[in-house]
Amino acid sequence: MQFSDLYTKVRSQQNLATAQKAVAKINSEENWAKSLDADALKDAFQRLRDLDEKARIVKGFALVREAASRALGLRHFDVQLIGGLTLLQGKLAEMKTGEGKTLTITAPAAVLALSGRGVHVVTANSYLAQRDAELMRPVYEALGLTVAFVHSDQSVQEKQAAYLADVTYGVGSEFGFDYLKDNLAVHAERQVQRGLFAAIVDEVDSILIDEARVPLIISDQATDMSEVVTLLDTCVRGLTPEAHFTVDMKERTAQLTEAGYLAVEGALVAAGVIKEGKELYEGALLPWARRLHSAVRAYALYRKDRDYVVSGGEVVLVDPGTGRAMEGRRLDDGLHEALEAREGVAIRQGTVVKATVTYQNFFGLYERLGGLTGTALTEAEEFSDIYQLETVVIPTNRPVARQQLEDLVFLTKAEKFSAVVQEARRRSQAGQPVLIGCGSIRDALVLDRMLASHGVAHETLTAKHIEREAHIIAMAGKPGAVTVATNMAGRGTDILLGGEKPTRGDCDSDEAYAQALAEWEKAREVVRKAGGLFVLGTERNGIRRVDNQLAGRSGRQGDPGVVQFYLSLEDELLQVFGRSRQLTLVRKLIEASGSALGGQTVGRLIVQAQKGVENQGYSARKSLMQYDKVLSDQRIAVYALRQALLQGGAQEQLRLSILAAIDSWLDEHFPEDALPEQLPAADLKRELSEVFGLTLPLLGWVNKDDATVQSVASKVREAALARLDEVLPDEDASRVYLLDVLGQLWTEHLGALDELKGNVGLKSKNGLNPMYQFSKDAFELFKEFERETNLLLAMNLLNTGRRDENDAAKAVLANKRSAEQAVALELEKRWVRRNDACPCGSGKRFKECHGKLA
Ligand code: ADP
Ligand code: MG
Repeated sequence: MQFSDLYTKVRSQQNLATAQKAVAKINSEENWAKSLDADALKDAFQRLRDLDEKARIVKGFALVREAASRALGLRHFDVQLIGGLTLLQGKLAEMKTGEGKTLTITAPAAVLALSGRGVHVVTANSYLAQRDAELMRPVYEALGLTVAFVHSDQSVQEKQAAYLADVTYGVGSEFGFDYLKDNLAVHAERQVQRGLFAAIVDEVDSILIDEARVPLIISDQATDMSEVVTLLDTCVRGLTPEAHFTVDMKERTAQLTEAGYLAVEGALVAAGVIKEGKELYEGALLPWARRLHSAVRAYALYRKDRDYVVSGGEVVLVDPGTGRAMEGRRLDDGLHEALEAREGVAIRQGTVVKATVTYQNFFGLYERLGGLTGTALTEAEEFSDIYQLETVVIPTNRPVARQQLEDLVFLTKAEKFSAVVQEARRRSQAGQPVLIGCGSIRDALVLDRMLASHGVAHETLTAKHIEREAHIIAMAGKPGAVTVATNMAGRGTDILLGGEKPTRGDCDSDEAYAQALAEWEKAREVVRKAGGLFVLGTERNGIRRVDNQLAGRSGRQGDPGVVQFYLSLEDELLQVFGRSRQLTLVRKLIEASGSALGGQTVGRLIVQAQKGVENQGYSARKSLMQYDKVLSDQRIAVYALRQALLQGGAQEQLRLSILAAIDSWLDEHFPEDALPEQLPAADLKRELSEVFGLTLPLLGWVNKDDATVQSVASKVREAALARLDEVLPDEDASRVYLLDVLGQLWTEHLGALDELKGNVGLKSKNGLNPMYQFSKDAFELFKEFERETNLLLAMNLLNTGRRDENDAAKAVLANKRSAEQAVALELEKRWVRRNDACPCGSGKRFKECHGKLA
């Protein structure tokens, strides 16, 4: 027991006590709610808009419960109301699997919708979003509310309609991408969302923790580096572990050894990329060095069918926590390109980011945020740290009767799997349904084959066809059923003992229905007697929460159930112990006893390993969030400006921007303390023409007797203003032009920030605080971005009608702006040669000290 867990428990108790008082009040409104006919109920609910929040909640919850009783025949349990109240307080409700989270959401969603501002209900996948929206539609409609489902196949109009509904269901990425796209739009009519008011996130751990490792990115094509990546891939393929590179599994990094570096260098010299004696770490070749690092990491750390799969000619990431394919997500730092090179699929190289946001910062934009999940407690600290979401444990409707058997450890995976098959067969023959949980698709397929060859009838789910699998898993509770599934498969689908409950619609007649029901009841009894659903985990995940998810599939709503995990010393989780004494001891014990080992030693070892993995994931997500926070502040500023421009005032803003560009140019070129004859008038004249499209008699002005620097500057300014008035477009054109240029430079700015991030990573090696350095530099870049936006706006516009000169001028600017080059030059200035003494003063050579390839 840790203090943080204790804290959560105490707070949960307090929360429960207050919530129970509120529930008593809601219950006392039940007779009133029951007395209303359908129209009156709708009316009463709509009239709650005039009440204060407290009264709204009490009466609102009573009406929602009544609406659900009538429309679905489901009356919210008290614990569901408590869950709903918790969500309204902006907290995170831990409600176990099968407690009815879908129904729980309706009460807070309906009450929040009374504000008229649109509530987003976020689910773990698209199938669940549609299912839940449809299942709960009758409840919302009975209250006079509209409900919709938003998904990626919709047109802009369809999406707009979906977002206009009172309650909108969808997946997290859809809401996030729509937000980003809305902020790339140049016309207000193309925007689909109407602000981010309230979000209720179901399976909140899946979205805010599992998926939070990879930010949402909208990208575009850029310069092609595929040849470089392919060449580097061939260079690293020949490398051998230990001799050429070392791997740190804990930190998920890989480093070339000196021999490894020399080998790669040799290959590159042979390929003519670098000259003999030149090093990759010099100036212009730095982009190569970064990509080499990616190639090494990809080669050393990423495995096909575990970390990613190749499907449809693409490298698709697999979530290690859940085994689910993460369509459309890409690793950053060039890792994804390196994997594409390895697999010989098309390299989607050099995309530029047009817009990006992490889940952490996106959901932080909502005014009201609440979440639910079956398993939050193990990550309570992270939820509170990163999202400021307090975790509250909601009691179950009925006591949990699930039995947890102790873990068994086998020597090898092979022994483990054959024990799994034996156990599944034994239990299934006794009528007990068995759900076998697998850590990866590959394991699921291995077990699939083994079960088949032992003649055990079974189903295998790999989260590939979410909808079809939802129906299969609903049947996993039938007597003797054996179901093999990856962690994510069928998440959100109920496993009822005895299988899916028959409905009248499935049957031809009332008699047939009655008979089907009777058979179902009989099956339930068989399964109950056999001990309920048996969940067999075939490995412990690095994250305890994922194991708890799997375990939670049995023993729902007070049902009987059993859970057990089978492990082997070859499991990845146990690899973090390397060849430690603890593991050697376990091995000896197993060998001595000649059978699998259970007991406390094993249990402790596993929890220790899991905590290590969890902490590591936590720090990775936290640092991603900190970096993104810096970006987030800038993004909010830029998006606020965009939003304002869509509403109007674009012409005025354009004018101001151009004025700012002119003034800043004048400040720079006409220093107050200079004498007119000191000005490089000829150069200035040329620049004025190139940059601002102004042909002015500058030499004449400067040489006038009474000329001062100020008087010349103000003449230039006047001329520029006159030109500006000539060419300033109307409001509509101004808006499109402004947003377009802003978008272009924002994209470049994101690229520059990204380079900066990589650069800061290098610097942290020399003992500087990387976060501090990063936010400082990022702010400088932001100011630069603003200045350049103004300048480009001025250049393009004032040069209107002067095409060729305009292009030349653009080229000048583009040169100045190439972020990659700038970073490379900067590094070159500071860079210490690999054979130099390390600046830290250790006396070692740089390449053996702080300059080790990382
Ligand atoms: P969770 O998401 O918490 O795992 P679900 O929302 O899928 O649970 O609901 C599980 C099952 O419980 C569903 O079959 C649902 O119809 C049922 N259920 C939910 N709430 C109630 C209720 N108040 N009364 C009866 N059955 C309910
Ligand atoms: Mg659910």
